Amino acid sequence: MSNQEEPANIGRVLSFLREWDRGDRTVRGRMLNTFVGQSSGKTCYELETEFAQVSSLFLARLTTWMRLTYMFGTFLGLQLRAIRIFLSASGHDQYLMEFLEDGGVLTLLDILSHAESKEEDKAEAVHLLLTVSNAGRKYKEMICESHGVKVIAECLAKSNTEETQDTAWALLESLSHWNPKYLNLIYKSLIALMACSSPKAQQMVLHTLRIVQSKMKTAHHSIVEPLLNMLRSLHLEVQDEAIHLILDLKGSDVRPVLLSGLVALLRPAREDVKSQQITEEAEMMMMIGSLPVFVQQAAAAKTIRLLAEEDQEISHDLLSLGVIQCLLCALGNREHTDAQIQASLALQHFVLSFPVVEDHVQRVMGRSLFTAFVNHGETFHMNLDETQAENLLTNKVNIYEARPMMSGLRSGMRQSKRGGGEMIESAKTKRKRTKTAVKEEETTASPSSYHTFTDPADVVLLRSELLKWYDREQRELPWRTLAVTEPDLNIRTYAVWVSEIMLQQTQVATVIDYYNKWMKRWPTVQDLSAATLEEVNQMWAGLGYYSRGRRLHEGSQKVVTELKGQMPQTVDSLLKQLPGVGRYTAAAIGSIALGQVTGAVDGNVIRVLCRLRAIGADSTSPAVTEALWDLANTVVDPDRPGDFNQAMMELGARVCTPKGAVCSQCPVQSHCHSYRKVHVKQEQNSKKLLGKLEGKTSSLSDIEECVISGTCRLCPSEPWDNALGVHNFPRKPAKKAARVERTLTCLVIRRGDVGEDEYLLTQRPDKGLLAGLWEFPSLLLEEESSEMKQRKALCAEISRMLGTSLTESLLQHIGDVVHNFSHIHQTYVVHIVRLKDLDTQTHTENTQWLSRDALQEAAVSTGVKKIVKLYDSVDGQKEQTSKNGKKQNATGVKNNKKPQASKKTKLDAASSGGRQLSLSCFFKAVKEES
Ligand code: SF4
Ligand code: ZN
Repeated sequence: MSNQEEPANIGRVLSFLREWDRGDRTVRGRMLNTFVGQSSGKTCYELETEFAQVSSLFLARLTTWMRLTYMFGTFLGLQLRAIRIFLSASGHDQYLMEFLEDGGVLTLLDILSHAESKEEDKAEAVHLLLTVSNAGRKYKEMICESHGVKVIAECLAKSNTEETQDTAWALLESLSHWNPKYLNLIYKSLIALMACSSPKAQQMVLHTLRIVQSKMKTAHHSIVEPLLNMLRSLHLEVQDEAIHLILDLKGSDVRPVLLSGLVALLRPAREDVKSQQITEEAEMMMMIGSLPVFVQQAAAAKTIRLLAEEDQEISHDLLSLGVIQCLLCALGNREHTDAQIQASLALQHFVLSFPVVEDHVQRVMGRSLFTAFVNHGETFHMNLDETQAENLLTNKVNIYEARPMMSGLRSGMRQSKRGGGEMIESAKTKRKRTKTAVKEEETTASPSSYHTFTDPADVVLLRSELLKWYDREQRELPWRTLAVTEPDLNIRTYAVWVSEIMLQQTQVATVIDYYNKWMKRWPTVQDLSAATLEEVNQMWAGLGYYSRGRRLHEGSQKVVTELKGQMPQTVDSLLKQLPGVGRYTAAAIGSIALGQVTGAVDGNVIRVLCRLRAIGADSTSPAVTEALWDLANTVVDPDRPGDFNQAMMELGARVCTPKGAVCSQCPVQSHCHSYRKVHVKQEQNSKKLLGKLEGKTSSLSDIEECVISGTCRLCPSEPWDNALGVHNFPRKPAKKAARVERTLTCLVIRRGDVGEDEYLLTQRPDKGLLAGLWEFPSLLLEEESSEMKQRKALCAEISRMLGTSLTESLLQHIGDVVHNFSHIHQTYVVHIVRLKDLDTQTHTENTQWLSRDALQEAAVSTGVKKIVKLYDSVDGQKEQTSKNGKKQNATGVKNNKKPQASKKTKLDAASSGGRQLSLSCFFKAVKEES
């Protein structure tokens, strides 16, 4: 707009606002009509231009008018549409804030709960609330603080238009995302809403509940009753959602109540059947020849089958609740075909999984009916006569516990019958059975099955025990929080990648601070790619294994330039496309960030698996490595692969530790071969001591052992050491001795412009050990060369950097610093030299002068930090040292400087300063005699 047009426009807007202020309902209605007609779809900028930058004045008037008149419905639709124009304008945050400050949210909620509001106005109000909610967490909280959840839930339950219901549903979902403060409130409101009568609303509520439930740490017991009631819905979509929610809850604390509720539904009490007949829904059901309670019975049988098929532990739980008797009962319900079919399918699962169930069901049915049941589960009920049905209804089968088939659990294939049925087992028979089972396994097992998990039921149990422990005990770590809460897949993958790289070779406690700082500075892969290598090195300083930071940086640049900013999204592509990402790291990122079902084998997992399956061969050998990956892939939980892998690592880090395994607190103790071995041996030894086992060495067979231990590639080559216990596993190859190195290093110090000391640092090459980090001028000592010669060489190197020449006599030896890398035992032979001239400049690239503060912040290695510490300690002790003779420095580093030598060196340095005229303007020995 030109400068001339501006005053005219302002005048026009002012007269518009004046007209509004003075206008009655009719005038305002007309004005609104024009505004809505002309301004739909306008952007914030366009609205501001139209209103001479004061459009807020109109929005405020609109909001206030709506607050005052919504109860009468006067032009409410128009008002809402006008407000929508503002709130939907791009860059609407400003309008949103103004609208909220004027009580907009409260008015919208009042419109929803006002009995006289028209349906279309409600729909528009819900739309606006959705826009508010989608604007971010603080806006969601504002809606919740105004008791919005209850109002919106009621609107969903009572509304009779699909549009309002759909929007209210979307709004509830939106409120549940990224709104942890009010999640519980939303959760409970949804539970209460399950009792509503609209099937569509019920379906939506269940759907949203599933989403919210997945974010809750626990389930509330009040969910159980209404959820089981949903199974009697005649609307299949509702029933389906209810079944899915029950399946979702299988790992929660309400599982026992849910399971017993489901089993009870298989046998409706007579009163239930009668009372159902007088309800409206039941009347309708009678017309179609059935009853809702039977619909519920069928749905319960179906849910039981789905649960039992998914989880062997649940099959056992259901057996303990007497599910077989109840399923047989439902099978005999000739009033409701679907109940019979569903019960039949569920019963088939148990018959195929547990020999004892097979025995009993056959006994109740008789051979021919049983054959029909096994071969035609879905249709055999058609041939049931009255007596057979009665038999099933009144059956007295009493199985509460059973041992599963050894294999083919989920295959649906018929298994050959195993000897003698087991009824409710006493502890004694159970023990006996376990021993028999072990022997059976040993004789029929494939050669190395001792080192694997052959029984699916075992695996299911191990997963559930480990995950339960992890859910209870896991440490809260920043990367775990991000992996759970970060909705953006790309950021999540990046965040887990950074954590995994930092955690390679570094303790969790050390990593936390570095990780938080890193993610704050570079929250996305794009941010990291824009950083310089120097910044990355600086951030990494102190974490060790510096090439990791460089590779992260390199990887981020590759992602941005070659992969269009998208992190690889499969284990394979992570492995292939990211530098520094190996098999373990790819699997960890894939499972934790992307939910890919893969095991992940790191040092902790190696230890846990080796102990669990008594793998004692060299854990770095290819055979063991492959076996461990196979094992990890077998045991990983397909529903929670990331959590499972982290749980294994957590177990290794906190319970099954290298030298102090706390087996008494181990959640998977019952699966552990090493633990069993230790205990059986201890028992035998104590019995031997008591003389009870004299001569009976055969009892050793009570310990499960590898049947091919002589030739097995996974069995230990060395004998079991009683003193080590479970720590016999894993075995590592003899460690290669670390290389011993000595490096001459020199702190070159000058006085800077402001009078403080500055230190000369040089940068290491881009590749190799400590790549890219800064250090004091240094030279690796060669064995064949004398130290004197090497000092000369170091002097020459420093001289080259400074563009002058320096004699080795100026170098003062102040002590040695020992620093161990994983493969190198390094000793730094530390010297100092102090330069006199202020104008001392460096003459080569990759060198710089740093003040003490800058040195603290610079990307330097731990070795350099130790050297500085030595220097400080020598400096601090100088006075005392000269008085008292030989002193030990306080930093744990070797200070082999003798006072006399020190004095001599200083004198030498001072005198040589006089001799070396060419250097006299640059250098001077520093340590003035006191
Ligand atoms: Fe490790 Fe002991 Fe647990 Fe076995 S029982 S996995 S050795 S902590
Ligand atoms: Zn073996």
